[in-house]
Amino acid sequence: MKLGTKLRVSLFVKPPGWIRKFSAKMIWRVPVDEPVLYLTFDDGPVAGLTEWILESLNQFGAKATFFCVGENVRKNPELFAKILDGGHAVGNHTYSHLNSYRTRLSIYIKDVHRAHKEIGSRLFRPPYGRISLLAARILNRHYSIILWDVLSMDYDRELEPRMVMYNVVSKARPGSIIVFHDNIKARENLQYALPRVLDHYSRAGYRFLPLDEKLLKDQNPAS
Ligand SMILES: [Zn+2]
Repeated sequence: MKLGTKLRVSLFVKPPGWIRKFSAKMIWRVPVDEPVLYLTFDDGPVAGLTEWILESLNQFGAKATFFCVGENVRKNPELFAKILDGGHAVGNHTYSHLNSYRTRLSIYIKDVHRAHKEIGSRLFRPPYGRISLLAARILNRHYSIILWDVLSMDYDRELEPRMVMYNVVSKARPGSIIVFHDNIKARENLQYALPRVLDHYSRAGYRFLPLDEKLLKDQNPAS
């Protein structure tokens, strides 16, 4: 498999049918044999932050995945284009940043499809990391559902910026999917932690790659 990343397919062996019937497929981490990390940025694109993130990534030759909110893409088409021009991946984060637990199923699914018209990705991340089993099973037909194994907590304004950095460097390992936010609420923490995380792992020989839609789809076939 190209991409410089060898995937160990064994971790994705299908469970028995009766388990599949009551579960949905979600990806928390990518099994890799190399020092690779997957940075992800939720909620953008947003004026006053997305460009700074793109510049910071550029300084380290890093690629990432932006889980965009459809209405923000609509408001900021030039920023969305810049993300794509930079060679980064994009994913669907609903059109209106809906909470699956508090939204009627049909409205939730429609909102995801509406976002798809703006974003055009087969990667999906549910806002708040919450998704009902039924919604997940429906979306699995078209999307790879991407969660994470490392949460920076950058959106928590009570948290000191150095703790946000610590949340990442204490937990990340090869193949980790790390969550940051392209959201003004997270700006102070992000602007402290992101350059340091990029520097720390670059020195340790890590590369930062975008999540690859096709590769993940192969791991996550329609059920
Ligand atoms: Zn979000």
